[in-house]
Amino acid sequence: MDTRVVCIDPYNIDHQQLQKAGALIRDGGLVAFPTETVYGLGANGLDAYAVKRIYGAKGRPSDNPLILHISSAEELDRLVAGVPQTAVKLMDRFWPGPLTLILKKSSLVPEAVTAGLETVAIRMPSHPVAMSLIKYAGVPVAAPSANISGKPSPTRAAHVIRDLLGRVDMIIDGGDVAVGLESTVAEVIDGGVVILRPGGITPEQIREVVGDVALDPAIEGDILTGIPKAPGMKYAHYSPEADVIIIEGPPQRVVAAIDRMAKELEGRGKRVGIMATEQTGALYRHGRVISVGDREEPSTIAAGLFAALREFDALGVDVILAEGIEQKGVGLAVMNRLLKAAAYHVIKV
Ligand code: AMP
Ligand code: MG
Repeated sequence: MDTRVVCIDPYNIDHQQLQKAGALIRDGGLVAFPTETVYGLGANGLDAYAVKRIYGAKGRPSDNPLILHISSAEELDRLVAGVPQTAVKLMDRFWPGPLTLILKKSSLVPEAVTAGLETVAIRMPSHPVAMSLIKYAGVPVAAPSANISGKPSPTRAAHVIRDLLGRVDMIIDGGDVAVGLESTVAEVIDGGVVILRPGGITPEQIREVVGDVALDPAIEGDILTGIPKAPGMKYAHYSPEADVIIIEGPPQRVVAAIDRMAKELEGRGKRVGIMATEQTGALYRHGRVISVGDREEPSTIAAGLFAALREFDALGVDVILAEGIEQKGVGLAVMNRLLKAAAYHVIKV
């Protein structure tokens, strides 16, 4: 399949190009596009055949449901069986933005979108290109992350091109994304809110709006059996080619331990990548070091995490030793993704 790659400047949108991309989606095509979280792979969310093409292009297991993306709150009504007051509050506060709500679905939503669940995941992205594209498509846009299933999510167009060129109809290059991690997924049941996947909107922020919020036990790393409630709980996710090991503890001890491990591994002929932070990057004497962000600002680490994992693959390292960070604020989402990338391989020092 020929894939068209189109550059669109989010600050000066070429509306004619986006109109064509919107029509392509409406007519059953696959279009990768930037959102504020990660790049998405979009299809007409009301067209079961188009939605199934997403699973094929990504190699995604068919029991892992997709998120419907809308561009205005009015589009919500026909997609769901009702909107609880708690959900209205969350939408008012966080939409458009990186919060996905799980609600009871209407009969309009194909089973291919929800993987047979009675609920549907819906989000209104804030990225101007995503917004306009959905508007021009004129339909809700079903979109998972625009990567081959199991790989780190794409935060720039080059990542999408690497994974999906020749597998989709169009890739829209809108530059680097802002958040760098997938949306927070929250289920609203009987007025209560449960976070199924942490993301850019933190539990603390949600608590401010609705008073109380619970974390799904699987987020803490428990093993979940049965139907997946949120992405990445059941399947390998965010995995680079290299093995990832997380080292947790007080920063000074973490640096010393990683440097020692890197030296030892290099002595055995392994190529070692070190995922460090701005505070620690210069302290290592071994390994290939990438500093992903500021330890005090987990949102900067979120923004660089997936690109760093892909960069280590490009460098051809065998092992990635990653500094753990505090699971507070966006740090919860960062560590959630990193733990999956490491298949829960953690060393405490
Ligand atoms: P991705 O971000 O690419 O992994 O895709 C979207 C994710 O949203 C899915 O993997 C889901 O697990 C989550 N999701 C979508 N629909 C539902 C739903 N009805 N209930 C719970 N989680 C959902
Ligand atoms: Mg994904």
